[in-house]
Amino acid sequence: MIDVTQLKDKVIVITGASRGIGQAIAHTLKDKGVRLVLGARTIAEQSEFQEDTILHVSLDVSDEESVMRFKEVALARFGKVDVLINAAGVGSFSSILDSETKDFDDMISINLRGTYLTCKHFGRTMKSQQDGQILNLVSIAGTMALPGNGGYSASKYGVYGFTKVLQSELRREGIRITSVIPGAINSSFWDNVDMELDKSNMISLRSITEHILFLLCQPKHAVVDEITIMPPNGIL
Ligand code: NAP
Repeated sequence: MIDVTQLKDKVIVITGASRGIGQAIAHTLKDKGVRLVLGARTIAEQSEFQEDTILHVSLDVSDEESVMRFKEVALARFGKVDVLINAAGVGSFSSILDSETKDFDDMISINLRGTYLTCKHFGRTMKSQQDGQILNLVSIAGTMALPGNGGYSASKYGVYGFTKVLQSELRREGIRITSVIPGAINSSFWDNVDMELDKSNMISLRSITEHILFLLCQPKHAVVDEITIMPPNGIL
């Protein structure tokens, strides 16, 4: 287990924190002296778990006003942002010819536009701080062509390319940015996917969380541009 005591008092913002990877990271970091700002569409703003160190905010990353409010609420409560983890995302899988245009639009607006919006607005804050760290959840589908991944791949190739540009623009502003590129992870992401899947071979939530904590605990002079994490048997 990574020693996260060095993250004490950091303000860590996580999108997609109601389920899956975002929620797993939040669970691991709570009660560790970290201040968390957790956003998702279905998160309860006045959660019974509301504590001084955890802020739950209703967030739709594809909506710029919602992203701007998310940032304002975070800054009003904690006064700074040390880390942004972009874990909000959706996936629909079918051949391009059989795909629904709405599913394509949703993946582009949530995965790509959503990551753009959070990076832009939180990036501005981090630039003024001359300090910050951004982790973008890409996917192996953002670096290789997988049948049935048309719209998802388009969104994730977009996130991957966009993240590389952001790295080049913000590297000298004290902001470290990493593309996290996993194969399949055993999360709720697959709950509504109509495919025969052996989830036991997927990366566990615990394992992906450990990798992300490792990135958060790296010294500032060591910048990890990207990290690829695969299940033992390959992509799925
Ligand atoms: P998940 O279990 O389905 O969770 C997705 C999270 O994103 C949920 O908290 C969901 O909450 C949130 N979300 C969806 N649309 C949103 C929106 N418009 N605004 C704000 N939040 C939104 O998926 P996951 O496995 O944690 O995946 C997290 C990220 O990793 C995604 O970008 C995914 O593409 C990527 N990834 C996943 C895998 C995998 O195999 N699981 C592999 C590679 C990469 P609400 O519905 O409450 O908004």
